[in-house]
Amino acid sequence: MKRLAVLGFPVGHSRSPAMQTAALAELGLGEEWSYEAVEVTSEAFAGFVPAMAARGFAGANVTVPHKRAALELADEASEASRAIGAANTLSFELAEDGGVPASEAGEAAVAIRADNTDAAGLIAALPGSPKEGGALVLGAGGAARAAVWALARDGAEVAVWNRTAERAEEIAAELGASAVAAPAAADYALIVNTTAVGLRGEDPFEHLPLAPEAFEPGQVVVDMVYGEKPSGLLAAAARRGATVVDGLEVLVQQGALSLEIWTRRKAPVGTMRAAARG
Ligand code: NAP
Repeated sequence: MKRLAVLGFPVGHSRSPAMQTAALAELGLGEEWSYEAVEVTSEAFAGFVPAMAARGFAGANVTVPHKRAALELADEASEASRAIGAANTLSFELAEDGGVPASEAGEAAVAIRADNTDAAGLIAALPGSPKEGGALVLGAGGAARAAVWALARDGAEVAVWNRTAERAEEIAAELGASAVAAPAAADYALIVNTTAVGLRGEDPFEHLPLAPEAFEPGQVVVDMVYGEKPSGLLAAAARRGATVVDGLEVLVQQGALSLEIWTRRKAPVGTMRAAARG
């Protein structure tokens, strides 16, 4: 059995086991592969990951709070994970030479490879190319770094707003965007909320520099936050005729790309979407 997992703390709420297990079954890999949620503390993470291959793990998704630590542990890293400074996907491969020493990894020497599918997952979740019309990213945390990098790399002109303005300036300077203090929603074809606002059901318009009536048809509005209830931001955007993409769709797309890295098979996105929403 090849094992896969999502590593986080906490991780009990994750939709990844449901969607990845459904995908493995759809691909006819349900007997050979398994996917589980594993709660790992920050203190334990650096010791836990190098020992995973010896326990039968072929790879892992990594979520809060381990994405930076995951990149630091890797022997090899994709361009996206290096530029973003975080990894959400790890693969364990037999090392030709080097890698984790046998004494730490178990019987075989293993190389840890890091990828970041949050970036490409966001692009895949969009209804079209972000190149035209400008993009506004709200937030300057880990999710923002992936979004800004992905959108800029795809040719979008990206503006970043953050509650703490200095963080917006830092991320903009580093990733080829510009910081904005008081954005006008109408100036952007694409708006991506990567702040944690909305996670606890609070009114997003009390915290974000947008008005509920600021959206318009033709715009695309993405909210990375997802939870039990539909996002207040997306509800307001949809009421004004904008096209909306929720955080669960981004989660599905990043998960599909991770699955393709591990299995080298085309991911059944429809099955994953149905399982994630089920
Ligand atoms: P993070 O690194 O902790 O960053 C949090 C961001 O939210 C910061 O920009 C912070 O601004 C801002 N923020 C928090 N409370 C705020 C408030 N009351 N008003 C305005 N801004 C506020 O977190 P993260 O890892 O980027 O994750 C952010 C969100 O994206 C989370 O809800 C997470 O679940 C979601 N996410 C979803 C996916 C997906 O696949 N759908 C993937 C990754 C993350 P300051 O800098 O001013 O503190």
